[in-house]
Amino acid sequence: MDALLQAQLDQRRSEHLYRTRLNVASGCSSTLKVDGQSLVNFCSNDYLGLAGHPEISHALKKAADQYGTGSGASHLISGHSEVHQALEQQLADFTGRPRALLYSTGYMANMGAINALVGRHDLVLQDQLNHASLLDGGHLSRATSQRYKHADLGNLQQRLEQSNAARKLIVTDGVFSMDGDLAPLKEISTLAEKNNAWLMVDDAHGFGVLGNQGGGLVEALNLSPEQVPVLVGTLGKSFGTFGAFVAGSEALIETLIQFSRSYIYTTAMPPAIAAATLASLKILREETWRREKLIKLVAQFRQGAEQIGVPLMDSSTPIQPVLINDDQKVMQVSLALREQGFLVGAIRPPTVPVGSGRLRITFTADHSEEQVERLLSALDSCGLSSSRTGPN
Ligand SMILES: *Cc1c(COP(=O)(O)O)cnc(C)c1O
Repeated sequence: MDALLQAQLDQRRSEHLYRTRLNVASGCSSTLKVDGQSLVNFCSNDYLGLAGHPEISHALKKAADQYGTGSGASHLISGHSEVHQALEQQLADFTGRPRALLYSTGYMANMGAINALVGRHDLVLQDQLNHASLLDGGHLSRATSQRYKHADLGNLQQRLEQSNAARKLIVTDGVFSMDGDLAPLKEISTLAEKNNAWLMVDDAHGFGVLGNQGGGLVEALNLSPEQVPVLVGTLGKSFGTFGAFVAGSEALIETLIQFSRSYIYTTAMPPAIAAATLASLKILREETWRREKLIKLVAQFRQGAEQIGVPLMDSSTPIQPVLINDDQKVMQVSLALREQGFLVGAIRPPTVPVGSGRLRITFTADHSEEQVERLLSALDSCGLSSSRTGPN
């Protein structure tokens, strides 16, 4: 076995796609300690800077004293506590949906929701750039899985018309995780309605960031539960805690409780995490300055990047990718940035399509303008402007 595996690993290394992990010696904040070096963190999804918020930690500690560390069982046996229940109610209120259901991770929420909604004789239509957990959920469901061209309404319409599947489920990210752009949700919901299809939106990167109250793309576009009947959010990103939820109608949530295998056959998240999330939800909704600060930092970055000729993508969110088509160069540039004290995501296939390796730079409300300025100088020194490898 090991000889076979090693050959596969060597192959991956020779393609410059080998992945390694950092050992981070500090909590998630705008600076990280790695191997004794202090690095400005431009790669977390903790967009609002809540992962290290003292009030949220305090809620976690207090709840751990009351409820202990583990839930001890799945939700359907004895793991569902009053804190989970309270959080589900708050999330339903927050999303403007009748109900919400907690999952242990976003990956599991997506797998579990798709599988509970469609099966063998059905069709799942996914945006080409959807998150891996959505694509995997589609495959596991045994429905026919198709990927439509990214945000391409014409292509989606065509596929809807060609199908006579019993159930048709359209699935899309709200904010696309590796590109930072937005799904044309209003138009997609119109197409869904016209073609008698269901719509599921995973807004892992929109919650906290978009909408007046941080209700994500669905709040920003004011889309009703009828327009977006299946809404997924994760708690490990802007919420700064851990877990995920699906929000929707009474019938949807009861269906998930009965049929969603990744909900049923797993241990409930610790109640203390739910308590921490209740604290973070309050801050996320009320502290609008965090969203305003993000908008400012993103504008500063884009303006500065344009001045020095760093190729940007069409993103208005805190996810600001810099496309570098050469996978080896992605690693070189990210290492050069690290030597200068900056940590950015080096994203290569298969996370993104072959030939679209990129730096994935993300901003959080904890960053200072000075840190952004210094990142721009560092990017300038990496000679990115000359490569001109933007999408156009
Ligand atoms: C992060 C992410 C997930 C997975 O959520 P986890 O809670 O980290 O498992 C799902 N969908 C999208 C779009 C994501 O970015």
